[in-house]
Amino acid sequence: MGHHKTVWDNPAELIRTLQPENPVLAFAPTVLQERAKRFIKGFPGLVTYAVKSNPEEAVIQNLVTAGIRGFDVASPAEIDLIGRLAPQAARHYHNPVRARSEIAHAVTAGVLAWSVDSRSELEKLFELVPTSVDGAAVEISPRFKLPVLGAIYDFGSKFGADPELAAELLKAVAERGYTPSLTFHPGTQCVDPVAWESYIRVAKDICDAAGVKAVRLNVGGGFPSHRVTGVEPELETIFQKIGDTTQEVFGADAPALVCEPGRGLCADAYSLITRVKAVRDGHSIFLNDGVYGGLAELPIVGNLDRVQVVTPAGITREDDLTGRVIFGPTCDSVDRLPGELSLPQTVAEGDYLIFHGAGAYSTVTNTRFNGFGALTHATVMELQ
Ligand SMILES: *Cc1c(COP(=O)(O)O)cnc(C)c1O
Repeated sequence: MGHHKTVWDNPAELIRTLQPENPVLAFAPTVLQERAKRFIKGFPGLVTYAVKSNPEEAVIQNLVTAGIRGFDVASPAEIDLIGRLAPQAARHYHNPVRARSEIAHAVTAGVLAWSVDSRSELEKLFELVPTSVDGAAVEISPRFKLPVLGAIYDFGSKFGADPELAAELLKAVAERGYTPSLTFHPGTQCVDPVAWESYIRVAKDICDAAGVKAVRLNVGGGFPSHRVTGVEPELETIFQKIGDTTQEVFGADAPALVCEPGRGLCADAYSLITRVKAVRDGHSIFLNDGVYGGLAELPIVGNLDRVQVVTPAGITREDDLTGRVIFGPTCDSVDRLPGELSLPQTVAEGDYLIFHGAGAYSTVTNTRFNGFGALTHATVMELQ
C-alpha cells in the first residue's frame, strides 16, 4: 500500500517505506503557499516569482493558488511555461540580453515588461517592441548595479548598467514613449537589508539625473532562505526597510514597488533526500548526490547546514556532532561540498542525509554526469 502513496507525511515516512536508492526532492506545497502569503502580506508592492529558481509546474501552480500574479521570466521557454500555467499573470522579461528571435517570440506572446542594461540592447527593443499592445502600455526598466553589498553571490558582474548609463537609458525610454521604470537585483541570499537600501537611494539619483519619474521600481530577488541552523531569515525586517527607504527617499514621487524573489519563495518548501553510499574508512562520507546534482550551488553559495541524518528505519540520529568531508557520487574531484558538515558521529552507510531548504537552483541544475542524477520528486505534508 505504502508504495502507492502520492503524498507522504514527511521525508522520514518516505524513507522508512521506500528506502530510495536515488536522490529524492520532497516538496511541501503547504509550506510554499504559506511563504507566498507571507511575501504578499508583508511586501509593500507587487510580488512576482523568478521562474529560473524552480520552474516545476507544481511550484508555479501552488504560487498562483496562493495569489502570486506576476513572474520574472528569462527565456522563450519560461515565457511559454507561464503563458500556459498562469495565462492571466504578468510576465516581466528581465533578462537584459536577448536574441532578436527571442524578442520577437516575447512580443508575439504579449509580454509587456522588459529590462535593459545597454545602449545596443535598448536599440533592439526600440526596433522590435511596440510602445503599447492592445491599449496596454509597454514598460522598459533599465537595470542598474552597484558594487556588491551584503549578497553571497555577485549578480552585478554580469548584468547591470552603472548609474550614469542607467540615467541615459531611462531618459531614452521615456522619450520614446514607453513606460519608464527601474530595476536592480542585489545578488542572491542577501541577509542584510542594507543591500536594498543602497540601491533604492541610487535609484532616486538616477531618476533625478534623467529628469524622469520612474513609474515602478523593481527591487529584484535576493531575499534569503533558511540555510543555517538557528539563523531564521528576517523577511519582514527587509520588507519594512524597503518600504520605509522608498518613502523617505522619493516622498510624493515614490514609484510603485515590485519584487521578484526566487530562492526566498521556493527554497524552504523542499528537502533533498540523499543516501550515504559509503563512509570511507570511517571518515569521508560519499553521497548519491552532489554538486553535479541537486547540490550544484553549494560551492558558490555555501553549505546548507540544516541537515538531518535519518536511519533506514526513519529514526533521526541525535548524538554528538563531528565535522565530515562530504563527496558526491561522480569521479570528478570538484564533486565535494565546501568545507565540512557537522553530522552526528554515528552516521553510517545506508543512512539518509536530508538537506532542508533545498528547493532553489536544485531541480533545474541537476545533470546526468557520470551516469548519476536520477533525481525523483515526491510530495509531502510536512518537511520535518
Ligand atoms: C535570478 C534572478 C532573481 C531571483 O534571485 P533570487 O536570489 O533567487 O531571489 C530575480 N531577478 C532576476 C533578474 C534574476 O536573474
